[in-house]
Amino acid sequence: MAYPVAAQAGKLLRALVLRPRFLVAGSQAVQLTSRRWLNLQEYQSKKLMSDNGVRVQRFFVADTANEALEAAKRLNAKEIVLKAQILAGGRGKGVFNSGLKGGVHLTKDPNVVGQLAKQMIGYNLATKQTPKEGVKVNKVMVAEALDISRETYLAILMDRSCNGPVLVGSPQGGVDIEEVAASNPELIFKEQIDIFEGIKDSQAQRMAENLGFVGPLKSQAADQITKLYNLFLKIDATQVEVNPFGETPEGQVVCFDAKINFDDNAEFRQKDIFAMDDKSENEPIENEAAKYDLKYIGLDGNIACFVNGAGLAMATCDIIFLNGGKPANFLDLGGGVKEAQVYQAFKLLTADPKVEAILVNIFGGIVNCAIIANGITKACRELELKVPLVVRLEGTFMEKKSYMHIRQETGNSNGNITGIQENVTHQNLSKCAISIFLS
Ligand code: GDP
Ligand code: MN
Repeated sequence: MAYPVAAQAGKLLRALVLRPRFLVAGSQAVQLTSRRWLNLQEYQSKKLMSDNGVRVQRFFVADTANEALEAAKRLNAKEIVLKAQILAGGRGKGVFNSGLKGGVHLTKDPNVVGQLAKQMIGYNLATKQTPKEGVKVNKVMVAEALDISRETYLAILMDRSCNGPVLVGSPQGGVDIEEVAASNPELIFKEQIDIFEGIKDSQAQRMAENLGFVGPLKSQAADQITKLYNLFLKIDATQVEVNPFGETPEGQVVCFDAKINFDDNAEFRQKDIFAMDDKSENEPIENEAAKYDLKYIGLDGNIACFVNGAGLAMATCDIIFLNGGKPANFLDLGGGVKEAQVYQAFKLLTADPKVEAILVNIFGGIVNCAIIANGITKACRELELKVPLVVRLEGTFMEKKSYMHIRQETGNSNGNITGIQENVTHQNLSKCAISIFLS
């Protein structure tokens, strides 16, 4: 997935929310994992699904190997599937730092469930979608395994280019859907849905057929698709992804996996769902940032980016890359930021030992430059800033005064940043930023 960043900010934004996240600049790519947005584990998503008539397997959740063993016995199933619960996909092909291969295991013996869970819980699972070191597994799902005769792919997402929800499906599921999209684009089917009219039966039937369901399975799949769509709307999801959306030899359509993403703007009316937010995979610094309503995503470079608006944040990351530097993070102040948040943001940045320089790139609109300048000077006064700070303020209240103020207080706002062009000034920085937006 290669996105020229700023030019397709909308697409990337959507990608940031929906999928494994990649920022690409030149030949460099940084993977951003979803942090700030509400994330639910598979077992939580499946609970929502089963409460709404969508067919999932019977399951229990366990925090310890013993509980997993007990759950496996209690299930009393012919075969059991044990699944590590992390937010990233690709678990089936993942590897644990305990040495265990595979985050999804099938077995007929409950004792084996206990042994496997011991090598999962408390260890890191690395998959194609996680950072290299993987993500710690705190819970496992112990479910009744079903035979799968066919694996298809189904997702419902909000798609900007369709101005609304779209069903995306492929008869070739189970595998990496990006690969199918690249090698066999004709096997990806889309069905645009009018959000006011809702899903039509003909649309659900057509998708079921395109997914290869035949006979009585076709109407069963259509019914599941309709229920999934209704759930998608009801819970204010931005994405519901089921891969595999499978069929069993006994003639049942089952959602074997589940990934749901949510619209944060709906938090006020989805209190029960947001209360389930699983922050255990976040970095502490990211949770701290969220407390002050700042969007923070940690990256592995050394230049802190202090920016407002995701588009400008991406452009700024690009500028840094294009000039041979590496961003240490992606900190978006957002609109309506207050001086106290600016201060908190600086506090977070300066507490990060990776940060060797801070680049402030603010376009003052709703957030005016004076607020930022005041926040920065307060932070510089109180936090003993030890790293070079480069500031570009543009827009509302961009008076020389703002700069003077910062310069006086910090004495180093013209400092150079190692790794980017020498003598970065706000003038040439803004030129860089603007040329990206124009190109
Ligand atoms: P992911 O790798 O993180 O996407 O995890 P999934 O839940 O999709 O599981 C990975 C793969 O394990 C699926 O594509 C299936 O092939 C297989 N799998 C999962 N659950 C079952 C099950 O109940 N029965 C069988 N036979 N296979 C399963
Ligand atoms: Mn899957």
